[in-house]
Amino acid sequence: MDCIFCKIVSGEIPSKVIYEDEHVLAFNDIDPQAPIHIVVIPKKHFANILELNDSNILNAIFDSIKNIADKQNMEKGFRIVCNTGSEGGQTVEHLHFHILSGRNLHWPPG
Ligand code: 5GP
Ligand code: ZN
Repeated sequence: MDCIFCKIVSGEIPSKVIYEDEHVLAFNDIDPQAPIHIVVIPKKHFANILELNDSNILNAIFDSIKNIADKQNMEKGFRIVCNTGSEGGQTVEHLHFHILSGRNLHWPPG
C-alpha cells in the first residue's frame, strides 16, 4: 500500500521517533504548527477513526498520548487533533492524532 505513514512505521521513510510500543508510533511532524507538534499513529493501517475497530489499539493510542504529554514539558497545556475526511482537513489517509503544544492555541481553529 502506498501510504506515507506505513512507510514511516516500516522505516522506509525516516522520522524523529518520540515514542514507540507494540501498537503505536509517535514522531515529530515534518511541518510543525506549534513548538511541539507530534503525530501519533497506530502501527496497523486504518484510514481514519471510523475504520478503527480495535479498542486495544484505541487504548494504546490514548495511553501513549498521556505518556508523551507527561514527558514532553506540556504542563501549560496541549491539544489533541484528529482531522477526518477532506472537510475535516485530513491529508494523510492513515489514522493519526496530532499533539500540539508550546504556544497559546487559538479557538475556534481555522
Ligand atoms: P493531516 O493533515 O492529515 O491531519 O496531517 C498529516 C500530517 O502529516 C501533516 O501535519 C504533515 O505535515 C505530516 N506529514 C506528512 N508527510 C510527512 C512525513 O513524511 N513525515 C512526517 N514526519 N510528517 C509528515
Ligand atoms: Zn498506512
